[in-house]
This record gives sequence, structure tokens and C-alpha cells, in this order.
Amino acid sequence: MDMSLATEQVSLQQMARDFVARHVTPNVREWDRGEAVDPSIIGHLGDAGFLGMTIPEDLGGSGGTHLDYCLVLEELARGDSSVRGIVSVSLGLVTKSIAGYGTEEQKAEWVAALASGRAVGCFGLTEPDTGSDAGSLTTRARRDGDDYVVNGSKIFITNGMWADVILLFARTSDDGAKGISAFLVPTSAEGVTRQSVKGKLGLRGQSTAEFTFTDVRIPASARLGEEGKGMAIAMSALAKGRMSVAAGCVGIAAGAQAAALQYAQQRSQFGKTISRHQLVQQMLADMAVETDAARLLVWRVADLIERGQPFGTESSMAKYYASEVAVRVANSALQIFGGYGYIDEFPAEKYVRDARVMTLYEGTSQIQQLLIGRALTGVSAFG
Ligand code: FAD
Repeated sequence: MDMSLATEQVSLQQMARDFVARHVTPNVREWDRGEAVDPSIIGHLGDAGFLGMTIPEDLGGSGGTHLDYCLVLEELARGDSSVRGIVSVSLGLVTKSIAGYGTEEQKAEWVAALASGRAVGCFGLTEPDTGSDAGSLTTRARRDGDDYVVNGSKIFITNGMWADVILLFARTSDDGAKGISAFLVPTSAEGVTRQSVKGKLGLRGQSTAEFTFTDVRIPASARLGEEGKGMAIAMSALAKGRMSVAAGCVGIAAGAQAAALQYAQQRSQFGKTISRHQLVQQMLADMAVETDAARLLVWRVADLIERGQPFGTESSMAKYYASEVAVRVANSALQIFGGYGYIDEFPAEKYVRDARVMTLYEGTSQIQQLLIGRALTGVSAFG
């Protein structure tokens, strides 16, 4: 295998770095403290083509490979994981699902708008009482003539307050996970209300929302895919989504590692820079090895997708490992910064806070272990 990047990929990486230096880094502390990124960043992401990556150009996307996509996500997360999340969800979970499963009308209505940042998408799976066990969700879409009428609620919805459309998973029959269908619901539809979830440990710049649906009437043409196939659409989105979360984890780890290395080379204690102390070098070495290992797992998933090979288990492996690595590496970075690591004028503590959620969403670490375990043994240990 050739692990080196092509010239165009190095240029893309540099372009993403420049984007972060220009649009993200100068604002990141203010956004974090104020619990909101400036939503104008969405337009900038669209202009850069980052919201249309891997989507064919004839649909209004900006094309490129899944490795290109991962390279950009890594750079965005290195700058601010909240910004990376905008792309991972709007493009990775919503636009890609519409491009993959949508009718011509649905694609025409949403794909180019989402890929350009003129519209934002969010992904509505989790409910107050159903998280890991998403197949038991209770939001209901009742068929009524040519319409469906939706009632229920969703929680922890990334991009929620900014979104123009929610890819909503709702129950159309009582047949367990087979009774779930997917819908494209405009957030402006009558009966949709949302409120911001505040007080998050990390990803504080991200918009996270709780939605309530009260007798929301949507035409049957808003259903994405066949009735009863919603869970398959959700699982397909999440399989690729896990790769994108893992790429973000690599960005957090790489950013934390670079900041800690720079600090260690400047800070002196006991008459020499702390980078010369063996125990600090041990931390730096572990951080570098784990970050690289996580990156290679992510690149493997991107490569499998491009070659049309199965990638679900590999994606779970990448997400599980990379998210745990992001937590460990960010924590070591904070340790290297000493007391300054605990203060938000230095970068380490934000990496720690932003890393933590990565082991929770798009399937917790335990859920990834169960997915990998099921693939290894052929036995499901979920129930
Ligand atoms: P639970 O499922 O209640 O899990 C609690 C604990 O039990 C965990 O440790 C879990 O690993 C463990 N557990 C559960 N089942 C098992 C089992 N079978 N075996 C062993 N251990 C188990 N959801 C969306 O739909 N869209 C979004 O955009 C979105 N964004 C999010 C953003 C943020 C900031 C957060 C915090 C969450 C977001 N989520 C989103 C929801 C997220 O995906 C869920 O929080 C996650 O799936 C876990 O569900 P839960 O919180 O209900 O925890």
C-alpha cells in the first residue's frame, strides 16, 4: 500500500489549514466561551466546497474521495471540533443520505442547497428515552391519505438550531426496527418546535437542539426511501459517519499533540526545557504513536469505501480507537501544559472537553465494541 498523499491531497490539506487559520482560529476561544460559533462559518464552509465533498458535481457537490474528505475533517477538528461537526452532520449524515436514497425531486430540492451551505441539515435519531437502542424509538409518523402526521421528540440534535431540514427517523409501524421510516422534514413546518441544549462540556460552539413534533403534517413525497427502511438508512449513514467522527478525533489528537510539543520545547523546569525530561518524552511518544495509528485506521476505511468493499466493522474500529485516543492524547497534552493546561487561554483544556463526546455519540465506545464483537463472533450481545 502507498500511504503517501498525492500532490492534490497535500494541496487540499493546506487549503483546509489556511481556511482554519483564516476563519476559525481567530474566533475559536470567543465561540467556545459564548457557546456558539458564528453561523456565517457555514457559508464559508460551503464556499470552500467542504460541504459538498464526495457528492458528485452533477448533483451540486464538489466531488473528491473519502480520503480527501477525511483530510479536511482532520484539519477542521484540529481548529475546532464544533466546526468539523457542522460538516460531519450536514454533509456526512444528511446530504449523503439524500444523494444515496433520495428521489430526483428530493435531490433537486436539497442536495445542491446543502452542499453549498445555503441550507443546513441535521440528523434526528436520538430521543429522550432511546439513545443506543435507537431501534426502539417512539416518534410516530401516522399515514393519513397522501400525508404523514408526525408526533414525538428528538434530543441532542447537532446543527439543530441552524438546520433547514431534519432527516427524521419515525415509527410507521410497530414492527420494531423494521417499523421505522426516514423523512425529510423542513424545520419551518407547522408543529415543529426546537430549543437549544446549553451547558455542554465540550463542542460548546455547536448548536445542539431538542425538537418537538406536534401533529406535523408532511407529504408522503417527503419520505426518504421505502417505508420501513429507515433504520437501514440510519445505519448506512452512521457507518460512514463513524469514519468522519474518527477523522475528527485524529484532528483533535494531532492538534493537542502539536500544541503540547511546542509548549514542551519552550517551557523550562529544573534547568532545561521540559521536552528534555524523559517522562515528558514518553508522553509525547505515546501521543504521536496513537495518533498515527488512529489516522491509519481512518484512512483504511476511506480506502475501503472508495474500492466498494465492506467497511462497517473497520469504521467501528476506527471510531472506537480514534475516540479513545483523542481523549487520552488531549489529556496528556493538558498534563504537559501543567497548570496552564487547566486555563482556557491555552489550547489543551478545550481539546480535552471536545474529545470527550467522541466516545459517546454516533454509537458509544461500548456500542462499537459490541458491533466489533458481533462481527468477530457472529453473535449479537446487544439485547
Ligand atoms: P444510553 O444509550 O442511555 O447509554 C448510557 C450508557 O449505557 C453508555 O455508557 C452506553 O455505552 C451504555 N450502554 C447502552 N446500551 C448498552 C449495551 N447494550 N451494552 C453495554 N453498554 C450499553 N443523536 C442524533 O440522533 N443526532 C445528532 O446529531 C446527535 N448529536 C449529538 C451531539 C451531542 C453533543 C451529544 C452528547 C449527543 C448527540 N446525539 C445525537 C446523541 C448520541 O448519539 C447519544 O447520546 C448516544 O447514542 C448515546 O445514547 P444515550 O445518550 O441515550 O445513552
